[in-house]
Amino acid sequence: NAPKPSNFLRGIVERDLEQGTYRQRHWGGGPGDAAHHRMGEPDPARIRTRFPPEPNGYLHVGHAKSICLNFGLARDYQGICHLRFDDTNPEKEEVEYVESIKDAVRWLGFDWDAHGTSHLYQASDYFDFMYRAAEYLIEAGHAYVDEQTPEEMRVNRGDFSKPGTDSPFRSRSIDENLQRLREMRDGKLEDGKAVLRAKIDMASPNINLRDPTIYRIKHAEHHHTGGKWCIYPMYTFAHPIEDALENITHSICTLEFEDQRPFYDWLLDRLAEGGLINTPQPRQYEFARLNLTYVVTSKRKLKQLVDQGHVTGWDDPRMPTIVGLRRRGYTPESLQLFADRIGVSKADSWIDYSTLEIALRDDLDPKAARAMAVLDPVKMVITNWDEAMGAGHLDPCSAPVHPHAPERGKREFMFGRELWIERTDYEETPPKGFFRLFPGNKVRMKYGHVIECTGATKDASGQVTEVQATLVPDTKSGTPGADAVKVKGNITWVGVADGVKAEVRLYDRLFSVPQPGTGEKDFLDELNPDSLKVVTAYVEPSLGRAKGDEKFQFERHGYFVADRKDHGGGRPVFNRVTGLKDGWAK
Ligand code: ATP
Ligand code: MG
Ligand code: MG
Repeated sequence: NAPKPSNFLRGIVERDLEQGTYRQRHWGGGPGDAAHHRMGEPDPARIRTRFPPEPNGYLHVGHAKSICLNFGLARDYQGICHLRFDDTNPEKEEVEYVESIKDAVRWLGFDWDAHGTSHLYQASDYFDFMYRAAEYLIEAGHAYVDEQTPEEMRVNRGDFSKPGTDSPFRSRSIDENLQRLREMRDGKLEDGKAVLRAKIDMASPNINLRDPTIYRIKHAEHHHTGGKWCIYPMYTFAHPIEDALENITHSICTLEFEDQRPFYDWLLDRLAEGGLINTPQPRQYEFARLNLTYVVTSKRKLKQLVDQGHVTGWDDPRMPTIVGLRRRGYTPESLQLFADRIGVSKADSWIDYSTLEIALRDDLDPKAARAMAVLDPVKMVITNWDEAMGAGHLDPCSAPVHPHAPERGKREFMFGRELWIERTDYEETPPKGFFRLFPGNKVRMKYGHVIECTGATKDASGQVTEVQATLVPDTKSGTPGADAVKVKGNITWVGVADGVKAEVRLYDRLFSVPQPGTGEKDFLDELNPDSLKVVTAYVEPSLGRAKGDEKFQFERHGYFVADRKDHGGGRPVFNRVTGLKDGWAK
């Protein structure tokens, strides 16, 4: 294993391991909760991180960064990373999303089985404990039930320029608060009639500490707890508790939660005082979220693309979702490499899409089998073939599966009287520096013979319908004296006799601007209208045997993958992952 690039989070983890921060675990001894028991004795030598998605959509490349970060820390420091579904919202969450998230984590090469229990954590399992914690806060004088209207609460919260105003309900007695909270829990109050608030400081310069709401009434079914609850914890209250119950050591989140850290610490300090949680308690650390050019990384916007039919689904190969990237031909290794290269920082920035493509090329170049494909085919006829080689003769040619791995063997294909070539490889009047096909020019048909172009036939519109050439004898690649005739052009081709017809999907960037939706226009008005071009191509016979998801380098064209959904059963379908070089693939 190559040493991983260092970053500030690794620095923190290494310092904690060195100082033995987590060696002395203290049991809270508070109210018994299943979570404590299920966790077992926390291993004092280990760090624990977590990846906590909300199961309300498919994961995207930004989540991949977070997964690689959290699971990567656990892997590299012999720790444990929990996969936790943050399902405290009773809004509809779908099993489809839960399954897709599990698949995505596994596919990226990570495993939440590291501690041998194969346990999936689920925030809604802690609702009993969270409620108990809420009562505890009231009992300790740290929370109250507020019955102001939402509008009054908003106004009294104040803003950056002025302190807030205490609610008239702030000084209620502990008993009255407990009674009201229980009435809320028992369904005696309608949605919005009351909330439970932490009692901190209405004058705090950090608005998040001006008595934040920790429980609200919501008469809604939850997909796990059903009708058991009609009050639900706020995310900012639930999340630190989830971390504490799972004995998380380093709770890593994106920068927008930085202002919430004081509340995170305040809450856990109070619960630790009450003996409700173990100590040392988890610490929150923030890093910059990934913004990638030419795509959007927001579940909400991605859902809009799917729902409005701008793409074919969550797994459309143009989508920056993990299922989309996978179908496009990205490998787990390329995404891990990408995550390592972009690192983690404390400052928001945009990462250029090409960084992702470079990681893919670097991963695939040594792995992907080579193949020839003609994406914009026009027929070339060798007019002296019958005299030179014999009527109907097919001449077997071969090429290495991989140029740097001779042990992977050879691919074979037939040279014959008729070949498919790229339309752009022929020019009637060659521009300066053009060394490919034009009348009177000799080129090598790669892995085959040298030919001399003699002309072309055009249709009424001037479009070339056939290119003609003659074979130059004794020039076959790999035969003695083949190099006697010097040529500047080397052309890829596919035999008409053994070429396989294939659908090739030429994907380009989903958006035509680098930072969609950040300017005047709506992001939907910035979609690239040419993000998909479907062509009928001819490919060499080895590609006829490709399996779904198999990746190739099409010589001169770039990296392609057999579409995992549509390829197969005698219908070859390939997706372009990326071109061979940097820049807009065109
Ligand atoms: P979105 O804004 O797309 O809905 P989210 O943050 O609401 O994403 P969650 O399901 O809550 O989605 O995310 C799970 C984890 O993934 C969080 O810990 C979050 O910090 C992290 N994450 C989400 N988006 C990014 C991103 N663009 N870059 C890095 N990490 C991210
Ligand atoms: Mg979220
Ligand atoms: Mg979100």
